[in-house]
Amino acid sequence: MVRKKQNLKNKKTALDFIHPLHERTFVLVKPDGLLRGLVGDILSRFEKRGLKIIALKMVWPTREHVYKHYPESEDWFSNIGSRTSEFFKEHNMRVEDHFGTKDEVRIGRKVKDWLGDYLTQGPVVAMIIQGMHAIKTVRKLVGHTYPIEALPGTIRGDFSVDTPTAANVEKRVVKNIIHASGNLKEAEHEIEHWFSPEEIYSYKRSDESTMF
Ligand code: UDP
Ligand code: MG
Repeated sequence: MVRKKQNLKNKKTALDFIHPLHERTFVLVKPDGLLRGLVGDILSRFEKRGLKIIALKMVWPTREHVYKHYPESEDWFSNIGSRTSEFFKEHNMRVEDHFGTKDEVRIGRKVKDWLGDYLTQGPVVAMIIQGMHAIKTVRKLVGHTYPIEALPGTIRGDFSVDTPTAANVEKRVVKNIIHASGNLKEAEHEIEHWFSPEEIYSYKRSDESTMF
């Protein structure tokens, strides 16, 4: 096993080829996952699928750290806001009655504020997972953002049932146990935001030569 020394100047960009088996993603077990004793089960699901944990630590994040983890972009806010509005509409509720606005960017900003409350409530478990198309594979294992929509067999679908209509009315975020990077850009940012190169390890799992 060797420490992975990363030369940040020659860091790969989203356009460089990364072998599918070497793809990396960032995962966070959120405070509700930790408090409910789900860390072991979650790690085990990744490991059993053939994904490799190459960095792992427990952290009590500050609000600033949480804010810098999520994008500060209008696109991200409006994406959150539009999904929230859609879900409210589907359930015959008016988003403006609870957010005081229909503006999707403002709704997204409010959700980010609540993420600041939620993720600083206690320690979280941060990790980097490496393996076959890790970003997509991990998102599939994690399941839909809204637990009520998450399929059984996924982490969110097996262990949670929260919805934005319940959560946002109570002025909090949807409790969904876990975070996983949504795409390569997020994975690159989040890995660098939570881990230093010295905390990332490179090793071969004993079943790799059998699996691939
Ligand atoms: N979130 C929420 N209400 C929403 C949308 C998102 O409370 O309508 C919270 C939820 O905890 C989610 C996080 O904001 O995990 C980040 O949202 P994103 O769309 O990135 O979902 P994820 O990538 O976590 O599935
Ligand atoms: Mg996301």
